[in-house]
Amino acid sequence: MNRRPLIHGQSLSALSGWCGARGEPAFRAGQIWQWLYQRRAACASAMTNLPASLRAALDAEFEFQAVTLAGAEEAGARKLLLRLRDASCVETVLIPARDHLTVCVSSQVGCAFACAFCASGQAGFDRNLEAGEMVGQVLAAASAAGASPGNVVFMGMGEPLDNYDAVLAAIRILNDKDGLRIGARRITVSTCGLAPAIRRLADEGMQIELSVSLHAADDALRSRLMPVNRRFPLADLMDACAGYIRKTDRIITFEYTLIQGVNDGADQARALARLIGPLKCRVNLIPLSAVEEFEGQSSTEPRTRDFARLLDRERINVTVRQSKGAGVRAACGQLRKRHLSAGRPAAGV
Ligand code: SAH
Repeated sequence: MNRRPLIHGQSLSALSGWCGARGEPAFRAGQIWQWLYQRRAACASAMTNLPASLRAALDAEFEFQAVTLAGAEEAGARKLLLRLRDASCVETVLIPARDHLTVCVSSQVGCAFACAFCASGQAGFDRNLEAGEMVGQVLAAASAAGASPGNVVFMGMGEPLDNYDAVLAAIRILNDKDGLRIGARRITVSTCGLAPAIRRLADEGMQIELSVSLHAADDALRSRLMPVNRRFPLADLMDACAGYIRKTDRIITFEYTLIQGVNDGADQARALARLIGPLKCRVNLIPLSAVEEFEGQSSTEPRTRDFARLLDRERINVTVRQSKGAGVRAACGQLRKRHLSAGRPAAGV
């Protein structure tokens, strides 16, 4: 594997330090970032306002291509299968909306948390992604879409708060006014509920959006669906969420995937309302995408409507997400899983 550091994982200050060590003024780092993020240069030779020796050193010491396209699927959402330098693959999803593009980024190869309904979780954990591999996904998505992403959500494969430092480093590059200029409030981190990491995030002083995947309002069921609940049960998780809201003055979004006959009953809606009612939050109800390893079915539309109505009656702010990926088996981890089992790129399937 190519071990040169990824250029898209370098903070501006790290690059300034690198320039300084080569006897170059610090402003060169700003010029390099300009080329990388405003003009999207694919290599240093394009950076014509830099001295030739510096361009050569950049090309020799850094890797410019973190990801390459290994496959894609079309639907309401477009899903890219991206190959990393060690030949492992991750999924990146492009979700077009009327006036902006949302990119759904993976934070790990695989996932260690084994949620019962999730294809990534069932496939197990491989490794953390580097910051440059996450920024690289956003750049690859922008180039595939021919548009600049307005929103980035860390809702692809993996648990972002289990790869905390690299995810935060990537967010800082995405958010920087000299980087990709994506507003903090347009960057969402989604977690399966790592309470200590939520507490740490609350102290970062960032304005990013936090989503918490809840899926059940009682410990017994949540532990069955999401084994992470045994480590951080609901009382601990809710305490961390309350602290996050207090410290950041932001709203938390609770993700709740409706599974027919499992977590979609009227009592469960009321229990959910009781659990999160005291918090400044909203609930996003998500239809379950069918995955092979999990027998559950998505709740019917009337049942989904009833569940939403009950929450609404309890004054919980609730939305129902239209799943754009389900039609192409593009829910979390599914494209990569087929790629792995076929032993070849998923292009054209
Ligand atoms: N690990 C993070 C982010 C990745 S998963 C987290 O747990 O939040 C992104 C979202 O997709 C989570 O809310 C997750 O619970 C949900 N998800 C995973 N598999 C799904 C499926 N088969 N159907 C619907 N939602 C799913």
